[in-house]
Amino acid sequence: MSALRDQLIDELATSGPMMLEAFMARALTDPTHGYYVQRQPFGRAAENGGDFTTAPEISQMFGELIGAWCADLWHRMGQPEAFCLAELGPGRGTLMADVVRAASVLPAFTKAAEVHLVEISPSLRHLQKQKLPHAHWHDDVSTLPALPMIVLANEFFDVLPIQQYRKAESGWLPIMVDQRDGALCFVDGAPLAAAELPSQALPMAQIGDIVETCAAANHVMTHLADHLARCGGAALIIDYGYAQAAAGDSFQALQKHQFVDPLAAPGMADLTAHVNFEQLQKIAMQCGLTSPPICQQGGFLTALGLDIRAQSLIQSAPEKAGQIAAERDRLAAPDQMGHLFKVLAVASQDCPPLAGLAGSAQ
Ligand code: SAH
Repeated sequence: MSALRDQLIDELATSGPMMLEAFMARALTDPTHGYYVQRQPFGRAAENGGDFTTAPEISQMFGELIGAWCADLWHRMGQPEAFCLAELGPGRGTLMADVVRAASVLPAFTKAAEVHLVEISPSLRHLQKQKLPHAHWHDDVSTLPALPMIVLANEFFDVLPIQQYRKAESGWLPIMVDQRDGALCFVDGAPLAAAELPSQALPMAQIGDIVETCAAANHVMTHLADHLARCGGAALIIDYGYAQAAAGDSFQALQKHQFVDPLAAPGMADLTAHVNFEQLQKIAMQCGLTSPPICQQGGFLTALGLDIRAQSLIQSAPEKAGQIAAERDRLAAPDQMGHLFKVLAVASQDCPPLAGLAGSAQ
């Protein structure tokens, strides 16, 4: 049962429908009943745990390769004596802990790195503190220190609240959430005036098409990009989504590794939507950053040496060869995470070329 669902039904009965975006924000981050506030989301289906799993939880190789990427970049950035190694939405802290461990081959990197974590969930902050006792925590990106920065975000942007609009004869209708007969339901809002049209509304959209916008993602990207343009550095964003903006409904809910109705039990299921990488890249470039073409996770990890790392782990633990090979496939195979997950990197103009990615577009 979902306490938040009952609360929302009462609220909507008095106040009328709410925008989908407001619903998604409440379901994920309501201070008492929000999904990321009250649930422990991570776990593997095979072990019957959690609601979903992520690349760093699948294999240490993911964080190790990204750790080597960070150490190499820092070295070629001229080894700044103090820099901000930041992560947005670090979950259980596994990625950052693997990054810090792998990068410790360069002791000067470890000395220079100030670890900063942007995390909304008190219970996940607690877990992160166990793995990263010296880190600094932030509620949002606005308080990150004015230092050169390497920032990581894995499966962070997909949880930021989206708004959907449906193209109708009468114009663009915002999708809203209302209550009826003791349940939550989707309803159409009033058509938008032309000036309010979502900026990403596709000119070629057909009647009936749904377009998604994510003001929160645009806001985070603008802030990060301004920071990188001022202080120098790069951001590596990995998530699932479209490399080119497209119409379509990608709003989904996941509970115990199954897709469920997103309105059935808010606060109990993870709600996500595809990330519009093209839009995020455009914002970064408008702020003066460079960005190589968006690529797929499989190609990126392979370019960083995933196969070599897997071989070396197998050599030290031959009894785990099957498991390590399966983890490698999970991360990189085209029919697993390899193609669906995309990599967007953005960097300040003075940043050296980024490993594993093709040359930067201006
Ligand atoms: N990066 C991790 C976790 C991904 S889940 C991994 O790959 O395993 C999303 C993470 O973002 C969680 O840590 C969640 O608590 C955090 N989060 C969700 N909404 C947030 C927000 N608005 N601001 C900051 N962190 C948020």
